[in-house]
Amino acid sequence: MKIVMLGAPGAGKGTQAKMIAEKYQIPHISTGDIFRSNIKNGTELGKKAKEYMDQGLLVPDELTVDLVTDRLGQDDCRKGYILDGFPRTIPQAEALAGALAKRGEKLDYAIDVDVPDENIVKRMSGRRACTGCGATYHVVHNPSKKGDLCEVCGEPLVLRDDDKPETVQKRLTVYHDQTQPLIDYYKGQGILKTVDGTQPMDAVFTAITRILEV
Ligand code: ADP
Ligand code: AMP
Repeated sequence: MKIVMLGAPGAGKGTQAKMIAEKYQIPHISTGDIFRSNIKNGTELGKKAKEYMDQGLLVPDELTVDLVTDRLGQDDCRKGYILDGFPRTIPQAEALAGALAKRGEKLDYAIDVDVPDENIVKRMSGRRACTGCGATYHVVHNPSKKGDLCEVCGEPLVLRDDDKPETVQKRLTVYHDQTQPLIDYYKGQGILKTVDGTQPMDAVFTAITRILEV
């Protein structure tokens, strides 16, 4: 099962992708997580990506596409995967389709987690990310049982720099300009499925599993 998660920043793609990955035992591949781990480890890629991420901009396609297509060639991706945060531009989607076609493969589903901008700004100010393992919480909707520490690894939770309100507004503008066109792109390919992302997390998850189990 090869799945792409679509939706605005903060729509709940990562939250759902982790649950789907666990249920169907497929890898969860998040380009945001890959960039953040490169930043943490001080790599060249991390340094370059940070310049864009801090401004709420997309990391250029030439730094992003090979990273993902190489990852998809690894053994654990043979049974499928769930892509979270990639593709984010039409050229990325075309590069992905090209890389899959070379292997005689194609995507099964593009799932759009639909949440209006007003809800997004509120959600992002409550998101907390673990500085150790990258796990994500929400102060109201999904608080850590350990308060300001991560339930998984015990490291401190922080508000991501790019989740501050001024950067969130920029990221939403970038989303509408560059990423939203993917909804029509995948609709045209007949694989788009839309779920109402304003529902509680479990209800969104049930809606997605219904789609995947048809
Ligand atoms: P994305 O990966 O799309 O950027 P996340 O999965 O990190 O979004 O979710 C953004 C924030 O909203 C997180 O703090 C998460 O805990 C919270 N969240 C996710 N899904 C829901 C939901 N259905 N209702 C309320 N809050 C949610
Ligand atoms: P995310 O964790 O998915 O919200 O991504 C955080 C940031 O990483 C984004 O705001 C972008 O700056 C960058 N990023 C993640 N995925 C991509 C991608 N596919 N293309 C370009 N930039 C990306």
